Amino acid sequence: MSTPPVDGLEARITPRGAAPVRRRPAWHPATVAAVAPETPAARRIVLDVPTWPGNDPGQHLDLRLTAEDGYQASRSYSIASSGEGTRVTLAVDRVEGGEVSPFLVDAIEVGDGLDVHGPLGGWFVWRPDESDRPVQLIAGGSGIVPLLPMVTAHAEADDPVPFRLLYATRTPEDVFFREELDAALRATAPLEVTHVYSRRAPSGSGEAVGRLTRERLGASVLEPDAGALVYVCGSTPFVEQVLRWLGELGHDLSDVRAERFGGA
Ligand SMILES: Cc1cc2nc3c(=O)[nH]c(=O)nc-3n(C[C@H](O)[C@H](O)[C@H](O)COP(=O)(O)OP(=O)(O)OC[C@H]3O[C@@H](n4cnc5c(N)ncnc54)[C@H](O)[C@@H]3O)c2cc1C
Repeated sequence: MSTPPVDGLEARITPRGAAPVRRRPAWHPATVAAVAPETPAARRIVLDVPTWPGNDPGQHLDLRLTAEDGYQASRSYSIASSGEGTRVTLAVDRVEGGEVSPFLVDAIEVGDGLDVHGPLGGWFVWRPDESDRPVQLIAGGSGIVPLLPMVTAHAEADDPVPFRLLYATRTPEDVFFREELDAALRATAPLEVTHVYSRRAPSGSGEAVGRLTRERLGASVLEPDAGALVYVCGSTPFVEQVLRWLGELGHDLSDVRAERFGGA
């Protein structure tokens, strides 16, 4: 669920570039084109969606599975890709005991059919060339999924606004999209990435290990007076905690957009 728009904010963040393309959400048949392990608990799933209208960085879709007996189940998934193509990339983390995610991570195969509804969400979105404001991204675990296309679009557009990403995972193996993040770091668009590992850091890195705290958050993110747009995504408890800390650190929460993936 995204935080609601704040009156006037859209106008404040769109001083440059063309008006955004609005794509009407619709149901589309999709076929699994590729699957690959993303982390020990997550899988990257590439869908072939011939009628897909394209999507902006940060948008999501609803994915619907239909069993042979007609039983259907649907869940929301952020889109790790963006732009006009008809290949749509997702990354799904296995929620133990869940109904849909274990099937997507462990069982779905190339050639399987399903349906997607989208693109969805016009609020948790960042488009290149639209704003001069620096951007602070904050992700917990699979919460990196909607933030990756923002990082990629920023790099590909060589957009000069400063980007910072704070990415919290348990271990280095739990980091999604490491190659894509490394590629964005090699690009000329300004990007800083800080990893916070709660259980184990890369061997020999000397990086501190421990849960994200308000102090570590404050030391890593752009200052409250930097005028940054802030995007926060992860499990609901992670997002709620980060929002609380950002408020306590003096950030204006009307500049913060949040996407909650669920969980208690
Ligand atoms: C806008 C949006 C985008 C999302 N994008 C992604 C994404 O890119 N990748 C991804 O892996 N997931 C994403 N999710 C979460 C996804 O929609 C499902 O909730 C998740 O896959 C679990 O579904 P399930 O059927 O396996 O679990 P369910 O059967 O629905 O739930 C089983 C139990 O797990 C708990 N639970 C549900 N979701 C979570 C969670 N995220 N963390 C911890 N506990 C949970 C439930 O409260 C319940 O107790 C997104 C959610 C939203 C709302």
